[in-house]
Amino acid sequence: MGEYMQSVIVCRSCGRTIDKEFIYCPWCGTVLAEHEQGAELIQSAIDRLGPVQQKGCYGRIDRMETTLQQIEEDLSLFIARNDSRVT
Ligand SMILES: [Zn+2]
Repeated sequence: MGEYMQSVIVCRSCGRTIDKEFIYCPWCGTVLAEHEQGAELIQSAIDRLGPVQQKGCYGRIDRMETTLQQIEEDLSLFIARNDSRVT
C-alpha cells in the first residue's frame, strides 16, 4: 500500500490517480504539481532555443556574405589584372 501511494499521485484537476512518471495528466492534460518546475524548465529551455537557433542562422548568413565579398574582391582583382593585360 505504501509503495503504491509512492508511485502514484492524484491529479489536482480531475482527481484521477496517475503514475508519478507522467509530467502531464493523461486524462485532462494538467501539468502535475510535482513536475511543474520541470515543465517550466523545459518550456524556458525551448524559449531560449528559438532565439539561439535564429542567431546561429544569421551568423551563417553573415559568414556567407563575408565569403561572397571576398570572392567579389578576388574576381574584380582578377578582372582588373586581365584588363590591364589586354590593354
Ligand atoms: Zn487530470
